[in-house]
Amino acid sequence: MMKLRGKSQPLLKLLAASRAQTIICALLLAVGFVAGGHPALSAPARHRHVLVISVDGMRASFYMNPPPSAQIPNLLRLKKEGSFAEAVEGVYPTLTYPSHTTIVTGCLPAQHGIYTNLSSRIAGKNPYDWFWFAKSIKCVTLWDEARNHGLTTASITWPVTTGADIDWDVPEIWRPAASPKPDPLYVATFMKPTFALEVLKSLGPPQGRLSEDSLRTRLAVYVLEKHKPDFMLVHLADLDEAEHHAGPGSSEAAAVLSQVDGHIGKILKAVQDAGLEADTDVFIVSDHGFLPIRRIIHPNTLLVKAGLLMADRQGNITGGRITTVSNGGSFFIYWPRGERLRSRIDRALKPLFDRNLVWAALGPDALKNLGADPGARIALDAPDGAMFDRAGRGPLVTDQLQTGGTHGYLPFREGLAASFIAWGSDIKRGVDLHRIRMISVGPTILKAMGISDPKFGDAPPLGDIWKEANSSRSDADQASSR
Ligand SMILES: [Zn+2]
Repeated sequence: MMKLRGKSQPLLKLLAASRAQTIICALLLAVGFVAGGHPALSAPARHRHVLVISVDGMRASFYMNPPPSAQIPNLLRLKKEGSFAEAVEGVYPTLTYPSHTTIVTGCLPAQHGIYTNLSSRIAGKNPYDWFWFAKSIKCVTLWDEARNHGLTTASITWPVTTGADIDWDVPEIWRPAASPKPDPLYVATFMKPTFALEVLKSLGPPQGRLSEDSLRTRLAVYVLEKHKPDFMLVHLADLDEAEHHAGPGSSEAAAVLSQVDGHIGKILKAVQDAGLEADTDVFIVSDHGFLPIRRIIHPNTLLVKAGLLMADRQGNITGGRITTVSNGGSFFIYWPRGERLRSRIDRALKPLFDRNLVWAALGPDALKNLGADPGARIALDAPDGAMFDRAGRGPLVTDQLQTGGTHGYLPFREGLAASFIAWGSDIKRGVDLHRIRMISVGPTILKAMGISDPKFGDAPPLGDIWKEANSSRSDADQASSR
């Protein structure tokens, strides 16, 4: 996003350099350099720091049994010196936005409200909008807890933080209808103006895309060294993109995993350089695993033929009596309560079942048990090797020439397990937690922050990973911080 050009260049010289910078300048002037911060809170009771790095799409098997060509010394060191899970069972659908929100709330999607990546539930209306905005989250978040306890907060491109009350936040957001490649200029319009200006002044004008982990890492290093936040979230996304493109078992994914490990190394170095290493607990997490795919299934073509959806000539859905949301590995169907459409939908979808194009079909009771979207009436899970998409015209199934990958399937399916490594002076060495649930991660991070809130999340913190000093120290710290 922001290319480093040396800190000595005057701001106005940088701003005058191009049209892009002019836009940012205008933006910042338009908002009048209004301070974006919050009223000063009392100083934190202690200087304990928590850093959470999410590696999007990282299967736990990537550090349990690393691909032979991958070089991941940092991940393996943290795993060896800390505690880790062999598998983290995620949420349904195993998608980036619901999962990241579960990590920061300890709640399942049915409670936290980020049910899928896509936010629209009206056929043909805003089909490319994602749940970018923090105001959609219905549970208390880790940054809420941190702020309530006088701790400072930062986030680099963590999903669903746009508009969040975070001290230093670079949100993840992009223009609707554009591909999910965040444009720094657009992102800047959602940042606190003082922070946007500060980043521009310190790191130079934006170049490149915020989808690139090297730029996200540069921002993270800057914020760590400059502000030393008590609580910081970082979201790295390149591995997810490589796995979508070439599949989870590809050499491309292994190469990007190695690069991601290098980014983690730089962030850890920044923690060290900031003098925070002894006071920082680090959590390496991920949102979901991946399955390889060779076939794409297009259920909307059947629903268009049955007159339940409408589509234009290009296959874009333009309206209908029902709404569908494609999650890659799963496909959710919605219709208004009171409308008796179930038998028509079942008839329309019969070819999917006749051709073995469904791994599982779930109704409202099953979705409720999974803590999934309470508005969905039917969820289809795709068979191994296949994914769903949204196209409303064309053949029911298309084959891909090359293996790709996706996620969104049921969280307990083989290959979908996410990651968890905890490391720091609070954390025991060499504890294998085996299989844990994603709802345990947020409460565990909260405990590392020295905060005890029994109402936070749906699960207690993980119990086995703490050195004994943690409980007594955090109880004392907590008492003084309230
Ligand atoms: Zn993801």
